Amino acid sequence: MTGPAQAAYADHPLAERARAVMPGGNTRSTLFVPPTPPFAVRGEGAWVEDQLGHRVLDCNNNYTALVHGHAFEPVQRAVAGVVPRGTAFGLPTAEDVALAELLQQRTGLELWRFSNSGTEAVMTALRGARAATGRDVVIRFAGSYHGTTDAVVDVTAPGVPDAVGQTVVVVPQGDRAAYDAALDEHGDDLAGVLVDLMPNRAGLVPADPGFVTHLRETTRRLGAVLVVDEVITYRLDVGGLHQRYGIEPDLVTFGKVIGGGYPVGGLGGRAEIMDVFDPRRQGAVGWGGTFSANPVTMTAGRVALEHLDEAAIARLDRLGELLRGLLAEAGVAASGGGSLTRLREPVDVGELWWEAYRRGVMAGTNGLVALSTPMTEDDVRTIASALVDAVRTVKKETPA
Ligand code: PMP
Repeated sequence: MTGPAQAAYADHPLAERARAVMPGGNTRSTLFVPPTPPFAVRGEGAWVEDQLGHRVLDCNNNYTALVHGHAFEPVQRAVAGVVPRGTAFGLPTAEDVALAELLQQRTGLELWRFSNSGTEAVMTALRGARAATGRDVVIRFAGSYHGTTDAVVDVTAPGVPDAVGQTVVVVPQGDRAAYDAALDEHGDDLAGVLVDLMPNRAGLVPADPGFVTHLRETTRRLGAVLVVDEVITYRLDVGGLHQRYGIEPDLVTFGKVIGGGYPVGGLGGRAEIMDVFDPRRQGAVGWGGTFSANPVTMTAGRVALEHLDEAAIARLDRLGELLRGLLAEAGVAASGGGSLTRLREPVDVGELWWEAYRRGVMAGTNGLVALSTPMTEDDVRTIASALVDAVRTVKKETPA
């Protein structure tokens, strides 16, 4: 069964209202698909229903954040217990201590701080790295997405001051010669290196272990801070993807799944570096955030993580293998690992998104397919066949 045509969404009264009050009718660039995306009306487990009553299996999971799908009962129950007691305070609460304790236990990272988004976590990690080293230059890798703070977007992007380019060096991921050349040039002023070990926007290909070890060895030698961005990848391993590489980063940024469906960012790391945020210290790095570490998010995150144990991740891994196997059998190019897969077909991604959506599968607008714990093997088979069909349609091939 296929869903409504794109025009039915573009001409919908909600889309018209949105265009009258927001640029392009849009408030979040990352989920725009032309001519205008559907509006979500409700979510339940692995399913989302839009304003036209079309139901889709949600492989976007709010860009991987909803690892347990929508309205996950244990999280809803816990949140319902917290909300009547107040949602945000001008005091710390026991809930942020509890989430930090859980994350410390799972990852071994010594000290923690929370914010409202992954963008803020990355921004603060870079500030921390610069404060801890007294240096300015950050090396990051081409194509990786780390949110929207100036230092991590393309320096040629509109609105980014040219001066940002003086303190940020971008090299191709895995290119040891380019990285070593950047170290030769900037090593003395290197504050840190920021890396995502399986960067989604750069193609969702796992980083080369030898290269990652090299990053750890060189940053350690130069007294620079190694920051691993696990905003997406933390769903892949209880301890964080970095543990599979056998490295100990100085700082690790978090977001998405650690908020259990509520706005979140987190930074964990070695005490020696995290101490730059200690407000008792002279010249500490300030870190506010009116809603940072609010008890609703902290509770939701703790409960979501308690249900994302090794067994849950192993089951998701098997579903991911099944999906990638089915895509490969059908000749559809894909990359990824665990519960994260990315379609790698050279086609118009907007067109592909709509073809999959009409067939009842919502992917990320750039071809990301994220699985969630409420999904079954049957769901994964349904997802695979809808995606294969969608790819063939966009490529104008006759279905097999
Ligand atoms: N880092 C990575 C690897 C991400 O994927 C994202 C968001 N997709 C961010 C940082 C920014 O997180 P947020 O959208 O919560 O600001």
